[in-house]
Amino acid sequence: MARELKEVQGIVFKRQKYHEADLLAKIMTQNNGIITMIARGALKPKSKLSAALLNFSYGTYVLYTSGQGLSTLRTYKNIKQFDGLFSDLTKNAYASFILDLIDHAFTEYQSLGKYNDLAVFALQKIDQGADAEMITQIVQMQLLAAYGVEPELRHCLVCGRDQGDFDYSIKQGGILCSQHFFTDADRLHLNPKETAVLRTIGLLPYERLGSIQISKNIKHSTRKAIDRIYQDTIDLNLKTKKFLDELNLFV
Ligand SMILES: [Zn+2]
Repeated sequence: MARELKEVQGIVFKRQKYHEADLLAKIMTQNNGIITMIARGALKPKSKLSAALLNFSYGTYVLYTSGQGLSTLRTYKNIKQFDGLFSDLTKNAYASFILDLIDHAFTEYQSLGKYNDLAVFALQKIDQGADAEMITQIVQMQLLAAYGVEPELRHCLVCGRDQGDFDYSIKQGGILCSQHFFTDADRLHLNPKETAVLRTIGLLPYERLGSIQISKNIKHSTRKAIDRIYQDTIDLNLKTKKFLDELNLFV
């Protein structure tokens, strides 16, 4: 495929040294999916490319690209940074995990569609100091569909009831009403409030979930539930997740 010069808007989220003085950086873009860029000579003292490739920088990046493999960073414009994400260890860990999740749900250059907006929304919120744990759980629940897991959260999988007390069944892929708990002995055994939170954050448009207030206990339970849903259905084993779990031991 022919290489062309292209301007993309995006957020840098992973970087690593490459060869002597080059940098590889991943960028999540609005229309061109996730791109790995090589910035040649970026680590040389006189290079200006490096500063535009700090984690959680965003703006316009001008690339030589063929729409596959490595693209080459030529220059950039109007680069800003999510300062909160860059400097706060906890915010950084949550944001890195979110972008890692997005990264694994899509192949390179595959358009992210609404999930780009979801990720940008989440990063902005966390950067501004919103409840990072809750924002991350929202992303996790809404991203299940991108992984091909679309849990039924609207009504009981067996009878279709949509009012009452529910629990979550990983085996059956969604919620069960109390009359049908018996159909899965291994259901998550959540209390109705906890299942209600999973339903809400999985179903409602994320813009409306920005300021949702959840008690610590419930948040802890829904986190464990979401972790199990991911483990049992997708099994990613992400380093960013492990790091986040380690951090939270001390919270
Ligand atoms: Zn039922």
